[in-house]
Amino acid sequence: MITLSGMTLDELEKLTESMKATKFRAKQIHNWIYAKSVSSVDEMTNLSKDFRERLKQIAKVTDTKIKTKQVSSDGTIKYLVEYPDGECVETVLMRFDNRANLTACVSSQVGCAVNCSFCATGKGGFKRNLTSSEIIEQVLTIQRDTGLKVTNIVFMGQGEPLLNLDNVLNALDIFNNDFQIGARRITISTSGIIPGILKLADLQLQSTLAISLHAPNHELRKEIMPIENRYPLTELKKALINYIEKTGRRITIEYILIHGFNDTVSVAKELAYFLKDLKCNINLIPYNSVKENDYKKPSNGDIMKFKYLLEHSGKKVTVRLERGADIDAACGQLRGRYNNE
Ligand code: SAH
Ligand code: SF4
Repeated sequence: MITLSGMTLDELEKLTESMKATKFRAKQIHNWIYAKSVSSVDEMTNLSKDFRERLKQIAKVTDTKIKTKQVSSDGTIKYLVEYPDGECVETVLMRFDNRANLTACVSSQVGCAVNCSFCATGKGGFKRNLTSSEIIEQVLTIQRDTGLKVTNIVFMGQGEPLLNLDNVLNALDIFNNDFQIGARRITISTSGIIPGILKLADLQLQSTLAISLHAPNHELRKEIMPIENRYPLTELKKALINYIEKTGRRITIEYILIHGFNDTVSVAKELAYFLKDLKCNINLIPYNSVKENDYKKPSNGDIMKFKYLLEHSGKKVTVRLERGADIDAACGQLRGRYNNE
């Protein structure tokens, strides 16, 4: 059985050709999958009944299921999607009231090997990479279920996208060409995998690269991110400068704020100094609580003070809105398990 979701127009044309049908049929199928997000061949009503029957003999639209769906009081929706081998990942749809944007937060791996101390995903260990089809199926799942068209994508779900780079790049191509979501509406977030960053620089990526920095020096960073031992900050910074030069793009620095750990005035000043020669915006993420550890988020006053100190250094700083915390859908809360067992 062929799965139609994830197939490019070229691949669909080869399929319709093998069925002795015209290329126009391929275009119609393509439109049903990516623009109208149907779940079955029967819904492709502008194909003749006979053609649909023949298509159903050899192909189905999808093999991905919604295992659970939770809706937050702020409108955020979290899906646990299940692939044919039984593995599950979470994918989150966020709406922002004052904008028409619909942002999908997608996972790139089942679990994560990077194991940052503050993140629930890392606690479950690493299971496997997702294929490019499995990545795009998350967005199709959202579109099929809501009947809405996703406009923006962030690779900020479970997993480290740069440790599954080939499949992530393939998915990016499909998002660009088949979903018609422009590169600039896509963000890839990484814990700082240097070889991946060098590769994206050479490819002159036009999507936004977000770096989970979380600390301005080696000692502090390695306490919460074991990856710092493998790819230390000084090397990471060189890779980022190279990336900015080669792509001409401004990067995003993500910075989790943990009370009493990395949210003090002196750390803010050190961070401003570290970032001074990097073309970047800063996104502060107040720590979201997860039961696996006992960190606390700073008070609003401390968050604003930290923000002010960075702005004073000339950077654009935003504080990330907490989305879907009541259903464990906020940053770092995704476990990818049923009932969060
Ligand atoms: N693995 C990638 C992308 C997914 S995580 C990465 O780490 O960049 C998306 C963002 O949420 C990252 O910046 C991550 O550090 C942050 N995050 C993880 N756990 C968090 C928590 N408990 N509270 C707030 N942010 C968290
Ligand atoms: Fe992996 Fe990102 Fe979580 Fe770190 S924060 S464990 S890199 S998913």
